[in-house]
Amino acid sequence: MNNAWTVEISRIVVLAVAAILFGIVSGWWVVAILLPCVIYIVWMLVQIRALERWIRLGAKHSLALDSSGIWQLIVQHIVHAQRKNRERKQRLSEMARRFEATIAALPDATLVINAHCEIELTNQAAQDILGIEKKRDLGQRIDNLIRDPQLHELIESSESVAQLDIESPVDRRKTLTVTCVDFGESRKLITARDISQRMAVQKLRKAFIANASHELRTPLTVIAGYLELLESEPEMSEMVRKQIYNASQQAARMRKILDDLLTLSKLEEKGYDQDSGSLIDMPGLVQKLVADFQRTKAKGSHKIEIDVDSSIWIRSIESDLYSLCQNLLSNAVKYSPEGSVIKVYWGLNAAEQLCFEVTDNGEGVAPEHLSRLTERFYRVNVSRSRQVGGTGLGLSIVKHILENHGGYLEIKSELAQGSTFSACFPSYRMEKRNVAKTINNVV
Ligand code: ADP
Repeated sequence: MNNAWTVEISRIVVLAVAAILFGIVSGWWVVAILLPCVIYIVWMLVQIRALERWIRLGAKHSLALDSSGIWQLIVQHIVHAQRKNRERKQRLSEMARRFEATIAALPDATLVINAHCEIELTNQAAQDILGIEKKRDLGQRIDNLIRDPQLHELIESSESVAQLDIESPVDRRKTLTVTCVDFGESRKLITARDISQRMAVQKLRKAFIANASHELRTPLTVIAGYLELLESEPEMSEMVRKQIYNASQQAARMRKILDDLLTLSKLEEKGYDQDSGSLIDMPGLVQKLVADFQRTKAKGSHKIEIDVDSSIWIRSIESDLYSLCQNLLSNAVKYSPEGSVIKVYWGLNAAEQLCFEVTDNGEGVAPEHLSRLTERFYRVNVSRSRQVGGTGLGLSIVKHILENHGGYLEIKSELAQGSTFSACFPSYRMEKRNVAKTINNVV
């Protein structure tokens, strides 16, 4: 048993023995029982009063009760709990200091806002990039300080992590990437990074590619023209003719690469526009695409099965849409054996998404390549791609066209089994027409 309890019980035992002795000697048993009880209760009340006064005065160690028994134990427990509390407070404030120092040292503007969009925490970079001063703006609503509807939408967004590029409110020439992350009880962490330099380099790279492609086109056309002329020269050995033919083929390939690079530059320049384009008769466009393909390809090279919902039109740019469909169809033709069947589908798929799909029974793509197919110049097999006249830019063009439409490309493929390339568009671009439902034919 605890020493304090031993002392307390000894006190009670001493009182009880004294009471019994008093009772035996005096014979006044009522007094003998009541008197020690009253003495003990009064003593307890005095101790409780002293304890209350001690706690009221701040429970300072120097003023601790000079008592023994159970009261000493209680005081010890209170002092111990107080010390633990002080240590925890110190640890917490040390952590808070370190956290603030870390936030302050971050190179990105960092803000924490509460459920009412009021700024609770900010750093030096936020002052440099966003113009938010710690002393002046803490507690202010962020949308009162930065009046940008896009930023407001970002903060109100229901996504747990949302990102957006905006102009810097401090310097309009700068571009910032702002990220908004949900955390804690309806708080948000907002970070902003200056990406102007990266944007400038990207712009320079795009301009360089566009200019170089444009400048190379003219001399290449001249060279191709001369090669064509030479090819038709009657007095020429077969060997030289073959070499000129090869050179002419390479010139044509280079021209195709330059054209594709220019197309990509233009698509990048355009970017995403929700309202772009006009209403396009997509069923008609698919029919035209397949008819064009039949005209240029050797007869019977591939069978094309068409399944088109003719009631669905789309808001788009006709030339871009044609280029997208042509790239997917020509890939299916290039990478599947002659005589095989290629399925072309337009309409809502099983998941009710608006898609243009091309399915082939060709060589397929191994899973490790799938995620990289839309990169520029990425080819699973470079020599195979060259042999069939590929540039490695077709799917990149498709991806950019879809991005500009707010859509995406889905690829399902199995090696040696075939592939399905689905170009999916957002449903707001769809327009339902009142015509017969489907066109099904084989050409
Ligand atoms: P390329 O001009 O080389 O065809 P793309 O960008 O159109 O370039 O396609 C990139 C690569 O994706 C191709 O080189 C090929 O390896 C693969 N690919 C594209 N379409 C198909 C398909 N239908 N079947 C199998 N592989 C394909």
